[in-house]
Amino acid sequence: MSQIEGIVLNELQYKESSKILNIYTKELGKINVMARGAYRSKSKLIASTQVFSYCNYEFRNGRTFYYLLDGRVIKSFYNIREKIERTMIGFYILEVFNKSIPEEEPNETLFLFLVKALDTLSNLDENYLEFLIAFELKFISFIGYRPNIEECVSCGNKNIKDLRFSVESGGILCGDCLGKDPYSVKINKIMQNILIKLMYIPFDNIKDISFNREDLMKIQVILERYILYFVERNEFNSLNMLKSMF
Ligand SMILES: [Zn+2]
Repeated sequence: MSQIEGIVLNELQYKESSKILNIYTKELGKINVMARGAYRSKSKLIASTQVFSYCNYEFRNGRTFYYLLDGRVIKSFYNIREKIERTMIGFYILEVFNKSIPEEEPNETLFLFLVKALDTLSNLDENYLEFLIAFELKFISFIGYRPNIEECVSCGNKNIKDLRFSVESGGILCGDCLGKDPYSVKINKIMQNILIKLMYIPFDNIKDISFNREDLMKIQVILERYILYFVERNEFNSLNMLKSMF
């Protein structure tokens, strides 16, 4: 099979020296890959089977797995491991991709978004929460669940005094439409503006903006519930550690 671009999302040891990998690829979508002997100290597959590695791969198509024949590293994103904040956010990004994306559905835009997110993260020294929320907003938008944060999802009201965020309705609700979702969460105008800013800001500009930490934490909790609801998962394991850090 010709060269396939991919990023390692997850690795599992298999038997003595092999690895089973989840690789998100540009051409094939998310695939399961068997890397035989990848744990052996002399294996030529060591670098290309590390989590975060972005490589050009050669596979052989098997019955249950793709078998990894060779891999050439394009970017190792090794800088992500230099800081604990980057590492934790990085693992969360990979887990979100791994748990939210169906297998073997290629999506080049989403693939390039992952490359860009990891690239931005590997150089990030501050504004970690801003980055995290921007990632979450953009990711859910790319997979088709962009929340409506500009107007009431129910009546279209734009000038809302009593703002709520409803996970199940997919965005902002006004006081008049509160009955649509009794579990909606109260937010304020400042939080709404942060949501709008972080939804549209290019990753390259994340370092130039910063917001109140408390507002960001509240928004993050809402977005976590939002993503889990739409991807039908109960939790992201890597997020528990991440939250205790913030
Ligand atoms: Zn309304």
